[in-house]
Amino acid sequence: MFDNLSNKLDKAIKTLKGQGRITDINVASTVKEIRRALIDADVNYKVAKEVTDRIKDKAIGRDVLIAVSPGQLLVKIVSEELTELMGGTKSDMTIKGDPAVILISGLQGSGKTTFTGKLANLLKKQGKQVMLAACDIYRPAAINQLKVLGEQVGVEVYAEPENKNALQIAQNAIKHAKQSGKSIVIVDTAGRLAVDEEMMNEISALKESLKPSETLFVVDAMTGQDAVNTAKAFNERLNFDGVVLTKLDGDTRGGAAISIRAVVDKPLKFVSTGEKMDAIDVFHPDRMAQRILGMGDVVSLVERAQETFDQQEAERINKKIRKNQFDFNDFLSQLDQIKKMGNIKDLLGMIPGMGKAMKGVDVDENSFKPIEAIIQSMTPDERANPDIMTGSRRQRIAKGSGTSIQQVNNLMKQFDDMRKMMKTMNKMGGMKALGNMKG
Ligand code: GDP
Repeated sequence: MFDNLSNKLDKAIKTLKGQGRITDINVASTVKEIRRALIDADVNYKVAKEVTDRIKDKAIGRDVLIAVSPGQLLVKIVSEELTELMGGTKSDMTIKGDPAVILISGLQGSGKTTFTGKLANLLKKQGKQVMLAACDIYRPAAINQLKVLGEQVGVEVYAEPENKNALQIAQNAIKHAKQSGKSIVIVDTAGRLAVDEEMMNEISALKESLKPSETLFVVDAMTGQDAVNTAKAFNERLNFDGVVLTKLDGDTRGGAAISIRAVVDKPLKFVSTGEKMDAIDVFHPDRMAQRILGMGDVVSLVERAQETFDQQEAERINKKIRKNQFDFNDFLSQLDQIKKMGNIKDLLGMIPGMGKAMKGVDVDENSFKPIEAIIQSMTPDERANPDIMTGSRRQRIAKGSGTSIQQVNNLMKQFDDMRKMMKTMNKMGGMKALGNMKG
């Protein structure tokens, strides 16, 4: 996502690289480029103008420190301004009540039901007792969809397929949640293809009666400026508490993320980046700004890793690395853990510089298949003692795994290199040395 905007900003800022002082003249043209890039990315014109004016004011006349180039300084200013534009700091949900009610609103197809499942998953991982209420009464398929998602993430779904009264269902769900000791009920509601009066009445009535501690508005980032208009229409009637941007993994220009906050004055709280249940991130304006500028989002990557990684397994493997005993069983276990983290391409996109490099490259879970097949074709002895791998063993493995001898040799070489690197790091005192090197 944001590839286009990142590329354009990168290009605009490059023209400043190598110059010693940010002057009026060179800033003016760069800022114009930045403004054009923002507008092309679907950022509302007024918002783009305001922010680039501020960038210009901040940049002009600033002497460049010895350590940074004018380009780097401008990147910093742009990053700060984009962060501010998207709300400055992260905004948490209010979860209050017994049970707390979270109301989910949005147009049909925005990704509401999918997000409902993801949010349940996230809250459950945080140790909360969650229940889902299926109140999309017009689409019977929506109830089933929610049930499937609920099952997938292990969260109970309350539904009354015959009942056509959304408020009644929600009230019954809340009663049921209370009785069964649930602390949060997430209410999925009906959407329409476009904003219409009946839908607005229904969702406003739900909000009035249920008194949710948090009302979220879900919107498809791929709809560009329409996303901003829909947000405005919903907010006028619903006065929601936060925005969820979905489908940021798609080929979106992403400008909606930047302008919604400025236009509606409601914080973005979550972003959704795929169809899988773990493709959800809490929205951090600073990280998003860095991502837009192609600086990657390493912090979100680490957070997702912490959520998914099996700490005990990580510690076990760490010990083996320290003893220079890392083998193919450990390698296989690490691949499994990476796969659990979700879509590989999304993850790579979070690494600085990788987003652009990975464009058009097809990386997915299947990329690991040959590697896994090769390791699985090894005997337990071979997996535990990678050094015994003779030519005839390699040939047998290639045959067994349906790969070529080159593929096996490549993997052996990569594995060898990896172990060499681990050994060197161990000699230098492990991760401590790495930490010292950075300082
Ligand atoms: P609803 O009508 O608002 O409940 O929308 P759904 O949750 O049914 O989503 C509509 C479609 O968008 C489904 O095919 C979802 O799988 C897909 N979808 C939802 N969120 C995302 C996302 O973040 N990324 C992508 N690529 N697809 C999504």
